[in-house]
Amino acid sequence: MSEHPSGFAGSPPPSVSELLAAEIRTPRPSRLRRPLALAPKALEGAKALGLDDVGALLEHVPRARRESRTVAALAPGETATVVVEVRSIASRSVRRRGMRPLVEATVADETGPMKATFFNQPWLLNRYRPGTRLVLHGKFEGRNSFRVANHATTEEATSSAEEVSHYAATEGLSSTQILALVNAERACLRDVVDPLPGRLRGRLALAERGAALEAMHFGASATAVERGRERLAFEELLYTQLALLARRAAADAGASAPALDSASDLTDRWLAGGLPFELTGDQRHAVEHLREELAGTRPAQRLLMGEVGSGKTVVALYAMLRAVEHGHQAALMAPTETLAEQHFATIQRLLGGEPITLELLTGSTPAARRTKLLERLSSGATSLIVGTHALIEPGVRFDSLAVAVVDEQHRFGVRQRSALVAKAPAGLAPHVLHMTATPIPRTLALCEYGDLDQTRLYERPHGRRPAATHVVSGERERARAYERIAEEIRAGRQAFVVCPLVDAAEGEEGLGATASARAATEEFERLRAGELSDYRLVLLHGQLGHREKQAAMASFAAGDADVLVATTVIEVGIDVPNATVMLIENAERFGISQLHQLRGRVGRGEHDSLCLLCGPKTSPRLSALALHDDGFELAEIDLRLRKEGELIGTKQSGVGNLRHARLPEDEPLLARAREAAEAAIKADPALEQPEHALLADRLADLYGEIEAHPIAA
Ligand code: ADP
Ligand code: MG
Repeated sequence: MSEHPSGFAGSPPPSVSELLAAEIRTPRPSRLRRPLALAPKALEGAKALGLDDVGALLEHVPRARRESRTVAALAPGETATVVVEVRSIASRSVRRRGMRPLVEATVADETGPMKATFFNQPWLLNRYRPGTRLVLHGKFEGRNSFRVANHATTEEATSSAEEVSHYAATEGLSSTQILALVNAERACLRDVVDPLPGRLRGRLALAERGAALEAMHFGASATAVERGRERLAFEELLYTQLALLARRAAADAGASAPALDSASDLTDRWLAGGLPFELTGDQRHAVEHLREELAGTRPAQRLLMGEVGSGKTVVALYAMLRAVEHGHQAALMAPTETLAEQHFATIQRLLGGEPITLELLTGSTPAARRTKLLERLSSGATSLIVGTHALIEPGVRFDSLAVAVVDEQHRFGVRQRSALVAKAPAGLAPHVLHMTATPIPRTLALCEYGDLDQTRLYERPHGRRPAATHVVSGERERARAYERIAEEIRAGRQAFVVCPLVDAAEGEEGLGATASARAATEEFERLRAGELSDYRLVLLHGQLGHREKQAAMASFAAGDADVLVATTVIEVGIDVPNATVMLIENAERFGISQLHQLRGRVGRGEHDSLCLLCGPKTSPRLSALALHDDGFELAEIDLRLRKEGELIGTKQSGVGNLRHARLPEDEPLLARAREAAEAAIKADPALEQPEHALLADRLADLYGEIEAHPIAA
């Protein structure tokens, strides 16, 4: 078949003469809907793989390309793939009853011949005539004899050290059979329709979709295959960005927000002197950004990311106060009552002396008080409100909600977030600030939350210093670690000893909880009788009763115990500023983010702090923790260290269904896809123009029709 023009992202655009010389082809997509010509058993296998027709087959790109071996180089016992030609073929009966005759062929490549044996398939005698070219996969048994497991014909011309595609296969349909099928249907790659507009392809020098698929199946070099993958990955990433941006565009077109663009007496005064501390640089930038953004009528949709303690609330409060000084209202919704109460207290404190009405509404607000509160809210007498889901109940009416803040936004459903947004006056949308303490790597954030503008708070407020972190391996270092703990205690400080999840997969809540509790109990007994026998130890794990847990925490918090030996239950909510050292047993069993969270329990006071990770020095995760303290940096590393298929916690809409793209490696492609999507949506927000018709179709297949609401995040 003739060469396709092959320009890829990154390669120079074709010249005019090249373009003129390119063959003009008219795809016939109907050919791709033909069923596969397969025997019943193989057909079942194909169905299981989702290969329903020729089109699906051609989309089933190889999992890997491996070099085929040459006959002369095969070692006894080796499992390998070879590309050979049949020289002669014969059948031989087998003595054992019930066995069908063997088929034995002499096959050869340019390095020499060998004997290939096919079991149980006598019909091959007539199918593989001398001269047929075959791909064989199987085991070289020595003495020049090859036991064939999978086989298929091939048209591939060369034989020595050539790359052979390996496909995800299944019972009934082997990788080699798939290769043969793809070979047979190769011509149909011309019928693959390219949804990317020609203009975009031209501008970015992108190959056609069919050519990219061809490169992935048959590419002559690793580079060609990779170029094909990049083209498909770009397309995939483009869809995620188009879907997000189109939805955002639809939301923006739906309603406008009140422009908070005048009077800033209150916020100026508050920023200048009302706050009990100075803003960090990151907080100042976030505030500046918000000032500009809230001044427009485009409803802000911003994701504010910052680790626990990074000071998100002040930033959110700034936005809320901008609403107040324009005579509007603002609400902050938190996922639990405890969090809502904390925010209420924090905000009260942060408001300083400003005479601003602030209220708290949760599920446990007494009925009588709730009634009065709702009256004040709907009359506009209340300016700021903090609450839980109670805020979105039907009876709750605002006079003029202009800023809505959602804390830990991932813990709310799409419906709940839009219910809050819907509390704005008819025809108006509030500015929305979504907050999260989860540091999401850049690439994932763009795929998951690409419809939101993003702000990150990296800096820690003053007075908090990172815990010096060391990996502790071997008995000598362990002994030294206990000495360090003793030194801290003698200096008046306190220590955590954290015992591992016994089976990380079971989780603290699952079956592993009992075993983890046992591990913690044993360690507690061991330390009490051994290394830390001079000090006061308490034990805390999930299997203790509520009262016992409370008692353990209280005695540690009060300084009545020097060491808290615990399972990961301490991850939640312990705040003991006097604790300066944490030792984590079997640290390699924890994930990076969990270790980072745990470590956050020390370094909360005025003293230097220390985190000791017991585990192998070779663990890249532990080294990362020892080297970095920034949660965003660690999240990026975590993502890079994950293996294929390990992208957990991602939603369907985003990263979960990427087949070709790899994150974070494909960040440059993602950036270009984002740009291309922005340009397309800017020119054609609803993707209604003819050149976007195929794209819009593909998007609807993947993500459903674009609607104004809800915003995905
Ligand atoms: P989070 O990002 O976890 O929501 P908060 O906004 O609750 O963090 O802030 C954590 C604590 O740090 C609060 O007590 C807050 O008053 C304080 N804080 C916030 N910003 C600063 C700052 N710039 N300097 C000192 N303390 C700050
Ligand atoms: Mg918070």
